[in-house]
Amino acid sequence: MKYAKHITDLIGNTPLVRINKIFKNSKGVFLAKIESFNPGHSIKDRIGKNMIDDAEKKGLLKPGGTVIESTSGNTGMGLALAAIKKGYKMIVTMPDKMSKEKIDILKAIGVEVVVTPTNVAPEDEKSYYSVARNLESKIKNSIYINQYDNLSNRITHYNSTAPEIWRQTEKKITHLIAGVGTGGTITGCGMYLKEKNPKIKIWGIDTYGSVYKKFHETRIFDKGEIYPYLTEGIGEDIIPKNINFDIIDHFEKVSDRDAALMTRKLATEEGIFAGNSCGAAIAGALQLESQIKSTDVVVIILPDHGSRYVGKVYNDNWMKKNNFL
Ligand code: PMP
Repeated sequence: MKYAKHITDLIGNTPLVRINKIFKNSKGVFLAKIESFNPGHSIKDRIGKNMIDDAEKKGLLKPGGTVIESTSGNTGMGLALAAIKKGYKMIVTMPDKMSKEKIDILKAIGVEVVVTPTNVAPEDEKSYYSVARNLESKIKNSIYINQYDNLSNRITHYNSTAPEIWRQTEKKITHLIAGVGTGGTITGCGMYLKEKNPKIKIWGIDTYGSVYKKFHETRIFDKGEIYPYLTEGIGEDIIPKNINFDIIDHFEKVSDRDAALMTRKLATEEGIFAGNSCGAAIAGALQLESQIKSTDVVVIILPDHGSRYVGKVYNDNWMKKNNFL
């Protein structure tokens, strides 16, 4: 009989799909790597499983333990799938700007969710990073996984996401475009792809309100760049250890509005029902399309599924409230 021994055995090997109408006036081939095909419907299933395996190997996580993480939602799901398999309790801290669907989905699979305020500095005791650290210090036999600084994050993409792209494009990829949150995806994939072919361009998508683009161009951490924004999962107010800025050739900023509208367009014009940061990545690719030649093969990573945003970008009232429609 043909069956998987556990749901986590189905992580990875996600499809590449051509994007047609949106790039109809562009040169080159634009391919989307659709990470919602993972069992937890996001790219973060890949790192969830590996960060738990790594923590066990290092002796940081023992039977009956508790896994704690600060997450915009997807990493919580990825970790939860592995935690369920291995019998760990799971607690996540999540900023209150994240979609209600993400909170409800985590609760549905047995995760304890602690919602924290979004608009506080990372070092504030109420921030989702600080609350997670504090929980770790209080709960015995617990570990704060910390996807930002845990290098098992980017190593996972080096070992799985990138080799898949290399094989699927038959070594023809010329550009990789990915939203940058922890930086694990872009750095891990970028390291692997540049080892295979140093000419491959690695372009990161950033938000307005995030420090990344300016830091990449000037190496100045400018707190003046930081302000609240709506796009979920990308852009940061910290510099995580997972990012290697030297691997990234260019950062492109995409507005909340352009990201939201493109997310909807991706659904209605391509039939790809994807998350908010997916729209940001496609919109960023379109902003850069004049640099793409007819022989180029562009791979755009689409990290998660549209179901997590039905109350937000896919909701007309939410769009109108934010003046996006
Ligand atoms: N999109 C979404 C929806 C995410 O949750 C994340 C992770 N924060 C990203 C993009 C960015 O991926 P990475 O953390 O690997 O940079």
